Amino acid sequence: MARVSPGSQAMKFIAVENFPESQSADLSVVMRRDSVLLLCREGAVWQPLPAAQLPNLPIVQRLALGLLDNRYCDALVVDDSWDEAAVPGYHWVRLRDILNSAEDVLFQLAGRAVQLQLWLSQHQFCGRCGAKTRTATDDRSLLCEPCDLRFYPKISPCAMVLITRGQECLLARGVRHPEGLYSALAGFVEAGEAAEQTAEREVFEEVGLQVSDLRYFSSQAWPFPGQLMIAYTAKYASGEINIDPKEILDARWFRYDSLPLIPPKTTIAGRLIDSFVASCDRTSG
Ligand SMILES: [Zn+2]
Repeated sequence: MARVSPGSQAMKFIAVENFPESQSADLSVVMRRDSVLLLCREGAVWQPLPAAQLPNLPIVQRLALGLLDNRYCDALVVDDSWDEAAVPGYHWVRLRDILNSAEDVLFQLAGRAVQLQLWLSQHQFCGRCGAKTRTATDDRSLLCEPCDLRFYPKISPCAMVLITRGQECLLARGVRHPEGLYSALAGFVEAGEAAEQTAEREVFEEVGLQVSDLRYFSSQAWPFPGQLMIAYTAKYASGEINIDPKEILDARWFRYDSLPLIPPKTTIAGRLIDSFVASCDRTSG
């Protein structure tokens, strides 16, 4: 479920590349250029700052982000060499620090700002000829003029699958998961693959099972640094669990009412598992 303030409607965000001419921003994500830290009010949950509340800052770059409930949002980038002590009443936070506290849509907004900033800093030169790139004027890309090549923000799609078998689901402890945490299987989409093919391939590679009835669940931008998680459910079809020890430490079937530690509902994995539990609750209740 999305996190929203009690009594309020979920906010809606629409990404845009440019604002209309002379349009100023109503809200700003203030961030540092190289460390991509976000400016946050002391003692408050992170949120973009209204124009009237912006502290006086040496801005080196401004990036259009989009519309949050019809309010224009941009990112204001401050050089890292600037003295942070110059903003009384504020401190700097990492994107990961706000994952479980900021509302979903605000986390998405901050994630977009961080991803765009990383893209700009990592594509200053052409990967083909080494010439300096410049910002294109007709779309949001970095352009190498000698090559006529454009570089866009890098987004890496990943397929995630929750395999179910009656009232059980298969959860795995990946080698990079925190101690004790079990989650759905996931992997990067390979060149030339459809996300559904990735889902079936990952299941077979990681736990040696065959699945059927692959169904799309939902997707989530995961800006660490630029994944798009595309989540599915699937039904167990055949095979015995046979884990790939390079990727998976343990994989097991868990009944919906006796699950191990799973990811929080701020993540798509948490929502995917939660949705399965809710469907079992409905059928058993
Ligand atoms: Zn080039």
